[in-house]
Amino acid sequence: MPRAARKESGPKSQPEIPVRKADTFENEPHSDFSRKEIREAFQTALDDVAAQLGGEFPLIIDGKATETRKKIVSVNPSHRKQTVGTVASAAVDHAEQAIVSARRSLDAWRATRAEERAEYLEVMAAEMRNRRFELAAWEVYECGKPWADADADVAEAIDFLMFYANQMRDLAVPVQVDFPGEENTHLYRSRGVCVVIAPWNFPLAILTGMTAAALVTGNTVVMKPAEQSSIVAAQLMSIARDSGLPRGVLNYLPGIGEEIGPVLVGSPDVDIIAFTGSRSVGLAINKLGADTDPRQSGVKKVIAEMGGKNAIIVDDDADLDEAVQGVLKSAFGYSGQKCSACSRVIVLSACYEPFLKRLKEATESLKIGPAEDPGTSVGPVIDKEAADRIADYIAIGKEECRTVLATDVGKLAQEGFYVGPHIFADVDPESRIAQQEIFGPVVAVMQADDLDSAIEIANNTEYALTGGFFSRSPKNLHRIKQELQVGNLYLNRGITGALVNRHPFGGYRYSGIGSKAGGRDYLLQFMIPVTISENTLRRGFAPPPDAEK
Ligand code: NAD
Repeated sequence: MPRAARKESGPKSQPEIPVRKADTFENEPHSDFSRKEIREAFQTALDDVAAQLGGEFPLIIDGKATETRKKIVSVNPSHRKQTVGTVASAAVDHAEQAIVSARRSLDAWRATRAEERAEYLEVMAAEMRNRRFELAAWEVYECGKPWADADADVAEAIDFLMFYANQMRDLAVPVQVDFPGEENTHLYRSRGVCVVIAPWNFPLAILTGMTAAALVTGNTVVMKPAEQSSIVAAQLMSIARDSGLPRGVLNYLPGIGEEIGPVLVGSPDVDIIAFTGSRSVGLAINKLGADTDPRQSGVKKVIAEMGGKNAIIVDDDADLDEAVQGVLKSAFGYSGQKCSACSRVIVLSACYEPFLKRLKEATESLKIGPAEDPGTSVGPVIDKEAADRIADYIAIGKEECRTVLATDVGKLAQEGFYVGPHIFADVDPESRIAQQEIFGPVVAVMQADDLDSAIEIANNTEYALTGGFFSRSPKNLHRIKQELQVGNLYLNRGITGALVNRHPFGGYRYSGIGSKAGGRDYLLQFMIPVTISENTLRRGFAPPPDAEK
């Protein structure tokens, strides 16, 4: 039973915010930082977490803390000399132990009533509400997320817990379709052991979403966070343990993806892999996961959410104030490191130059700085490797395109991994900066003579994740709905910030091979559908043995 439901005996005190049942789902509101008391509370959390920096975080396998010889040193992207903490780095044998632990716990966990599994998620959500700013503060330090982005990520994690708890209650009720003389039951069973492999850019939300989905559907989990966000993941692990989750049901396995990833994905004892990250890793996982080892019991299920090269089209009658703000937020929010970020803008010729001028001016007003500063709109990028990769793309942009804006970050470059916003215009739609995912604050602007060619340019990518359109024309809006090939289409608004249930999220083509996170069919992927048909016109029953006496 979840711990908060065991009032008298649980070692952990009842959370201050009571556990809420997910009977109906409502999105967790984002914090209103215009309120002084909210800003002060957030600053207090930042100060509290600052005092905890430098700690050590072991692996947790079968409920036991396990130290490792090799470590991951987590560095604050805003201040490269500041260590956020030191995390154990799993070796191949730890990965194998974690799978054994998950398998050992499987039978008991899948036999646990769905209602009880949903309650664990609700207890975890309540604890996240209690620790909301503290969790966001860890994201500020470990991932360089500015305040509002970090706060929104924690809110989304809570949403995933509550939404999937709610969904599972519905799915747990078998569907009965009876005919005279025949009873038919359609129900779902868990798949088995799930490996969750997560990215760093939504460090709590995506990891929580995939993990919660696997757990509530009755699977046990080996949780492999990204190297760059393993301390935020350790907070999730501690919340799961505090909820009283039986040991071994969730195992925390930080480590280097290239080293332990193939062991986890290739293991014959793993039944399902839930991955979110880059296209190259996702495709490698999909390939390895499809391979069948004679020792495994069946074909593995692979869910992979991958990258994007998302475009916004600006029509010639668009409200440019709205379009500029929409592009600005979508392109440079969290330094362009959201999978949904806008990295291409296709502008109809009539408004091309005015749009560029206004976008440049608006971008120049963005304040670049450390993530813990409440005034920062553009923080650092995640690490040195990312900063170097983005710098290479900027060099290509400067060589091949017209540079509209190249923001110099000055002395910040020595302090952390900062890259200023860059805008390139007259970009060739076939060029590298128009085709490859850069994952940084770099936007490629292209001109189109008419809507036909704008749509053609927008669809001319291997990805299909998010896309947007600014227009006042009902006819053109209708056309875009039919013709823009993206998983999430946004009209007359920015293209980031998907909310659970309201905007189920995910792409197709090379952007994803799963159904949408935060949507109604997401949990189905984690289960096996079973149909039981019974002939009830039996000619008598076999009497039970004692009835014969
Ligand atoms: P990444 O692919 O480098 O890493 C993701 C995870 O995979 C990490 O935990 C990493 O350790 C692990 N990994 C690396 N090599 C592996 C291997 N060989 N086998 C198994 N696991 C391995 O991605 P990232 O840099 O963490 O995240 C950024 C990427 O994620 C971007 O491409 C972004 O678009 C994408 N993303 C997509 C979505 C979506 O919903 N579609 C959401 C967030 C991020």
